[in-house]
Amino acid sequence: MAWQRQLQKLPKTASDLVAQLGLQSAYPAEKLQQQPDFPLRAPQSFLNKIQPGNPSDPLLQQILPLAKEKAQQAGFSTDPVGDLEAQKNPALLHKYHGRALLLLTGQCAIHCRYCFRQHYDYGQTQPTQIQQALAQIKADNSLREIILSGGDPLVLSNRRLAYYLEQLGEIKHLQRLRIHSRLPVVLPERIDSGLLHLLERSPLPVSLVIHANHAQEIDKQSQKALQALRQAGVWLFNQAVLLRGVNADIEAQMALAEALAKAQVVPYYLHLLDKVQGAAHFEVTETEALALMQALQQRLPGYLVPKLVKEIAGLPYKQRVL
Ligand code: SF4
Repeated sequence: MAWQRQLQKLPKTASDLVAQLGLQSAYPAEKLQQQPDFPLRAPQSFLNKIQPGNPSDPLLQQILPLAKEKAQQAGFSTDPVGDLEAQKNPALLHKYHGRALLLLTGQCAIHCRYCFRQHYDYGQTQPTQIQQALAQIKADNSLREIILSGGDPLVLSNRRLAYYLEQLGEIKHLQRLRIHSRLPVVLPERIDSGLLHLLERSPLPVSLVIHANHAQEIDKQSQKALQALRQAGVWLFNQAVLLRGVNADIEAQMALAEALAKAQVVPYYLHLLDKVQGAAHFEVTETEALALMQALQQRLPGYLVPKLVKEIAGLPYKQRVL
């Protein structure tokens, strides 16, 4: 399949990527990390949206491994949102009432440099743990919604997804299924007819939370994929992270809201950065974020203004900032 082939042909090092984009003078070797523990990863469909020759490109900023990530920063940790505390087994996280996260894979199509799970040990997320997680979900009558997360659950084949959807559909107390995936914007070819068919026939109503941080990510191909998902009966929401150098200004946020509206995706959350080690250079202060939100509220209809939230480890809900 074309989308799976793309995942086998990825740029090898940061220097390869920089050379491909004609940015060697802006990013000499000493500014980059060639073999980070959280490796460079981005499929060609995403790379095609980066503007060659622009060292500040907002999409490039999200994926380029920089040497400054290695600096230790006070207040930044390897588990900023308390995933380890919430683990029921390596494939099941239960933080919030009525909802649980089922981690079907540790793999993603892209590695976002600010990802709060970049240090999470997925090594143990094996099929046996997933089976055990399914049994735990079945035994817990308080659960209403299962969130397929990861990694990115849509990197799994349609055959494996069909199996998990069927298993979840047989659990009587579940009412809804939610999928968190960056693939409709990062690798829109993944939204193929087999997947659409599967989602359309799902015994549980499906919502999909995409993850676009910048309007430039939502090109024609992504719009088409999102339209197909809507036609398959999937509710669409977006969550973004507020990132310095990517989307921390009013123009970028306005453009993102407009692009989402055009694709009929509801802007749902704007997250303050989770303080994960390696991502300190992306941080936007709460004061700056509030000023930005107030400016957004003055310019957009309420339904296009996302909720500004932050995650606090151990808190049983996302904390609203505005
Ligand atoms: S796609 Fe999501 S889980 Fe994967 S690296 Fe990016 S933010 Fe993290």
